[in-house]
Amino acid sequence: MSDKPKKVLITGASRGIGKATALNFQNLGYEVIGTSTNKKGIEMLSKKNIIAYELDLNSKDSISRFLDHIFTNHKDITILVNNAGVTRDNLVLRMTEEDWTEVINVHLTGVFRISKAIVKNMLKNKWGRIISLSSTSSPLGNKGQANYAAAKAGIEAFSRTLSNEVGSRGITVNCVAPGYIDTDMLDFIDENERNSIASQIPLLRLGRPEEVAGLIAFLASEEASYITGQIVHINGGLYMA
Ligand code: NDP
Repeated sequence: MSDKPKKVLITGASRGIGKATALNFQNLGYEVIGTSTNKKGIEMLSKKNIIAYELDLNSKDSISRFLDHIFTNHKDITILVNNAGVTRDNLVLRMTEEDWTEVINVHLTGVFRISKAIVKNMLKNKWGRIISLSSTSSPLGNKGQANYAAAKAGIEAFSRTLSNEVGSRGITVNCVAPGYIDTDMLDFIDENERNSIASQIPLLRLGRPEEVAGLIAFLASEEASYITGQIVHINGGLYMA
């Protein structure tokens, strides 16, 4: 690897864990590319000097436009963080086909499409890091999240397989699996329920996006070069693998 600043792509960098990850990499001196589904997110990222593109992982056209930009301007991405995510919770009996398909598209198929495109350059460089967000929902099987938990379990299996396929070329592939992290994704949980959840976590609180960002930066570093194919849990002790 040259001493050039490493270039990181983070999907869903406009809010929550993705935003904290983008800002952390920027502070560490990396060149950062981030995505959002909308103009407001793009503007916010641009104001923070993060190279920003529109990307909707639920749209093949949007992915294709985004990858055109990447192949034209940023062939040299060395670190990919598959972070973008959405929930469409409901009990299986009430879950619509649309809710199932959107969540699988954004998480699992999105991770496949973006990783496949970006790993090519990593193979040439013989160095790379792919880090994808999973969730404790996968091992715990949270009620109402069959689509989300299935997508996350798929991302874990995808990552283990890819780590086997590209390990000989100096590329590591891992997942970070957070428990409850205080972001917009948990907006639907009211104060009472939050307190009740916190009381069941050994560390007695929800996690902060910056704490997840720190773990992602470690997995992207040289120090983590012997870690691959792993699901790294960060959940205050809620789930002990
Ligand atoms: P937020 O809801 O705070 O942010 C979600 C991000 O994903 C936004 O930047 C959003 O972009 C982007 N996004 C949403 N839909 C799409 C789409 N169709 N295509 C592309 N991007 C999209 O989520 P968190 O920060 O909480 O979650 C980040 C990751 O961490 C997710 O993968 C989530 O599953 C995982 N996770 C989160 C946990 C938590 O407790 N918060 C727990 C476990 C895992 P924009 O708003 O600009 O459209």
